Amino acid sequence: MQHVIDGVAKFQSEVFPKKENTFKKLANGQNPEVLFITCSDSRIDPNMLTQTDPGELFICRNAGNVVPPHSNQTGGMTASIEFAVAALGVTEIVVCGHTDCGAMKGAMAPENLNDLPHVKEWLGHCRAATSVVKERHGEVTHERLPEVTQENVLLQLQHLRTHPAVAAKLATGKVHLHGWVYNIETGEILCFDEREKGFVPMSDAYAEEFAAKRKIKL
Ligand SMILES: [Zn+2]
Repeated sequence: MQHVIDGVAKFQSEVFPKKENTFKKLANGQNPEVLFITCSDSRIDPNMLTQTDPGELFICRNAGNVVPPHSNQTGGMTASIEFAVAALGVTEIVVCGHTDCGAMKGAMAPENLNDLPHVKEWLGHCRAATSVVKERHGEVTHERLPEVTQENVLLQLQHLRTHPAVAAKLATGKVHLHGWVYNIETGEILCFDEREKGFVPMSDAYAEEFAAKRKIKL
C-alpha cells in the first residue's frame, strides 16, 4: 500500500500541475462520449489502453464486465447505465472483456464457486455464454476460454439492449454498441464485426468505418 500512498503524493506534486487546465475544465462537469464497461481485473487500465484522459470515458467495472438484463430491481450497473445514457448523453458504449479473465473461468466451472455465493450468483448473468459454447462443442473445456469470453461480451451487449434508456437511444440511432476483447499479453484488441459475425483485430479499417458511419473526417 505504501507505493499507492506515495503515488498520490507524486500525482499531486508532479502530474496534476502539468494538467491543471484539464482538471480546471473538469471541475464543474463532465461530458464523456463513451460509456466503457469492463472487468474489475487489476490488469486493465481503460484510459491507458485507449490513450484517453480523465473526462473522456465514463467507466463501469465489475467482475466479468457483466450487464445484468434490465429488471425492475435497481442495481449499480442499471443506475450507472441509465445515468450515462439518459443524463450524460454518451453516444458510444463499449463492453470490453479480456484474456485470462477469472470471472469467465468461474462462469465455466460454477461448481468451484460454492464458497463464493455472491460471485456464483453474479456469474449466472454469463450462463448463456457458456451454454452457447457448450452447445457448439459438446463441452466447455479450458481451451474454450477465449470463445466464452467473446460470447460473454456479445451476451452483455444483448443485455444492454434490454435497458430502456439504451433501447430508446438505439432505436433512434443516438447510441452505438461496441464489443471488444483486450489481450493483456499482446495489447491487441479484438472487436466484434457485424459483417464478419465474429471478432477481428481492431484495424485502420475499423477506424475508417467508424468515421464513415459517424461522418467524421479523419
Ligand atoms: Zn476479468
